[in-house]
Amino acid sequence: MVEREGNKILVTEQDGKLVAELNSKRLAALKSIKYEGDEILRGMHWTIGAMSDEPGLVRRSKEYHKAGMSCVETEGWMPFGREPNLTQAIRFSAGRARFTSDFVANGETISRHFSVGSFLLPGKWESMFVVPAAQHLVDGGKPYERQLPKWDGKDIMLGHWHRPPLSLVFKRKSGVRLEVGTGSDVFRWEQNMGYHPEHGSYKVTLTQAGLEVLREPLACCEDFVPEGRPFRYTWHLAWDKAGVRSTPPEHEVVKAQIARNGHDLEWDKVKKAFAAPRTDGKPRFLLVDIMDFLWEDTCKRCPSPQAFAAELVAPEPCWMTSPVEKKLKNLIRKLVEIPGVGGLIFRNVSPGICYHPSHVDKKNPMGVAHWDMGGMMDFAAWARQACRDKFEVYSEAAEGWDTPAMNTLFD
Ligand SMILES: [Zn+2]
Repeated sequence: MVEREGNKILVTEQDGKLVAELNSKRLAALKSIKYEGDEILRGMHWTIGAMSDEPGLVRRSKEYHKAGMSCVETEGWMPFGREPNLTQAIRFSAGRARFTSDFVANGETISRHFSVGSFLLPGKWESMFVVPAAQHLVDGGKPYERQLPKWDGKDIMLGHWHRPPLSLVFKRKSGVRLEVGTGSDVFRWEQNMGYHPEHGSYKVTLTQAGLEVLREPLACCEDFVPEGRPFRYTWHLAWDKAGVRSTPPEHEVVKAQIARNGHDLEWDKVKKAFAAPRTDGKPRFLLVDIMDFLWEDTCKRCPSPQAFAAELVAPEPCWMTSPVEKKLKNLIRKLVEIPGVGGLIFRNVSPGICYHPSHVDKKNPMGVAHWDMGGMMDFAAWARQACRDKFEVYSEAAEGWDTPAMNTLFD
């Protein structure tokens, strides 16, 4: 639900656990997020050089509800120099907020730093789970979790990276977790606005007030004038309570069989299975294993720039490709027409990095870094709407991905 009282916009999740407060007079808009009354995020802001977006002027602000999501859009400019423009769209749905942040520098000189979506996580946090930057995963890095110390009189930098970590998940003692994730457009974040590579800055600092999370796609040691084109950054926040995952009710499983061509289900068998008389009154769920399909090499993940150059692919499909989206949407469109389906469960849904440039409409002999979390979230949002009033969709827990965004994917 989204409602406005003067300059205040409130977004409340259906179960009432999450309340986000936004300020319609502020370009960065998001003021705070409370989960079960506990403030877990405060003061989201952008910075251009030493200046935050606070003096920025909002030209247009609107809030609306669309396709099961509460949306807040803001557009405006900074009243100095070449009057750079900032535009932002936030889409809230169960368990997450997805951001599309656009910046047009208009020839403005940026004094060393540019940040998008930095904020404070107030109070005490127990641990931090890090999914490293795409390049670090290519180099053999693995996701890791670390326990966080208590503030003891002086600030401590708990993490500092030059490329954006794909995901950071912070956990309170109560189990409440907040995730900040880079969008699928990793390559945009890593371009450093056209400055030299490795000139981003992503920091987590322990302070007396809580954890300061700084996210700068540009951090350099001199004044820099980016190109006049728009710079877009997508990213997300997600939240949940550790160990609380929505699980399907007790059910009977019908395992989907794939037709001999590898591309579609054996629909006759699916229909027959759901038409069969019930014995115990439990709902009947269709289980679809993503890896059972035959995926063409062009839609599989290329796990590194070297793999792309050598035309090597991983077995898993990349969710940023249209064949994946089309196949799964068609599957749902057919399934909602079949009587007796109690639910749908996907197996082998877990995000991954990929360098195949065509998946993100690019060309580059060295590949283009992206990950397919965004594609999964887009599909899940569509599936929720398409199956509404028919049945629920779930995905099995993905190994190594106990994160809020994945745990609430189809919620
Ligand atoms: Zn891809």
